[in-house]
Amino acid sequence: MARRPRLHEFRLIEQLRRSFGRTGPAVVRGIGDDAAVVAPPKGRQLVLTTDLLIEGVHFDLRTASVEDVGYKAAIANLSDIAAMGARPEQALVSVALPPSCTVPHVLRLYKGIMNACRPHRVALIGGDTSASPRGLFLSLTVTGSIPAGTALRRDGARVGDLLYVTGTLGDSLAGLRLLSRRGQGAGPLKASERRFLIDRHRRPIAQVRLGQTLSALRLASAAIDLSDGLSGDLRHLCEQSRVGAEIDEAALPFSPALRAYARSSQADPVAFALQGGEDYELLFTVHPAKQRMLQRTARRAGRRVTRIGVIRPKAFGLLIRETTGLLRRLPATSYVHFHHAPSE
Ligand code: ADP
Ligand code: MG
Repeated sequence: MARRPRLHEFRLIEQLRRSFGRTGPAVVRGIGDDAAVVAPPKGRQLVLTTDLLIEGVHFDLRTASVEDVGYKAAIANLSDIAAMGARPEQALVSVALPPSCTVPHVLRLYKGIMNACRPHRVALIGGDTSASPRGLFLSLTVTGSIPAGTALRRDGARVGDLLYVTGTLGDSLAGLRLLSRRGQGAGPLKASERRFLIDRHRRPIAQVRLGQTLSALRLASAAIDLSDGLSGDLRHLCEQSRVGAEIDEAALPFSPALRAYARSSQADPVAFALQGGEDYELLFTVHPAKQRMLQRTARRAGRRVTRIGVIRPKAFGLLIRETTGLLRRLPATSYVHFHHAPSE
């Protein structure tokens, strides 16, 4: 039983249904019934993910708009589906609304969510609405599907496999720093570089298409999405696969804007890649024999993929080769989404 929020719950749900709900061949019954009914995709397995976001823990409405919060919550889920190599399909959204929250706020929150979902044709099929005595709570569930047995798992990496990442690393954290220290440290940064980094933080993109290509062509032996920084996410992949890894510092892909930011703020771009969260790029492993096919596929998809290292035996540990040739341990710290977040 939901605690009735101050704003008119049923009218709000009706408005959400009209603005964002959708039925179709896959969605037999959407928002408005006791539960949604969807047609099971033939010969495919279901892939399910959910995320709970709490104001003051995972986001701060002083530095992010409600639309940003909705957008990024959806991307976090879509990126999980992408990292499994699956096709996203439906979304369920539950909210607990504080007294200060108005109908236009809720509609903006959903606008953000659906802006992230629409390019992937993900349909909003339901949710739940409650009042919150303090702070906004948002829970998103995204469903997806994949041909049976083809999901990209974290436990498939083998010694000798090559480590790849999509896109560039560390941009989102630099964008967050720019947002939270308005004006400061922006020094010699061009307006376009500043915009690029902030955009990478506020409007990241989930690698949904590439994830599906990697699984469909069986190009990747293991995959994970980069939500907590390379260091932490590589550790998850290696633990599950029972292997070690060697990263080549010189190979890490950085955007020109991140390099400029690092120069202007005397920061190390490598630290941004290792500890910066919310890049939502994919980290995956590839058997050496499949390297050329991967390069060709990425080129055709117009996506940048970079070889950043190699899988080693477990006893090797997780090491990074500096540009000087020296090997050092990968730092254990990972991204803390917000300063009140408990460290894991
Ligand atoms: P119940 O009491 O059975 O949970 P609700 O009144 O909560 O029924 O929900 C009625 C319909 O509205 C359901 O289809 C539900 O999925 C949908 N719904 C409720 N809240 C939301 C929301 N915040 N976002 C999207 N759909 C919602
Ligand atoms: Mg309900």
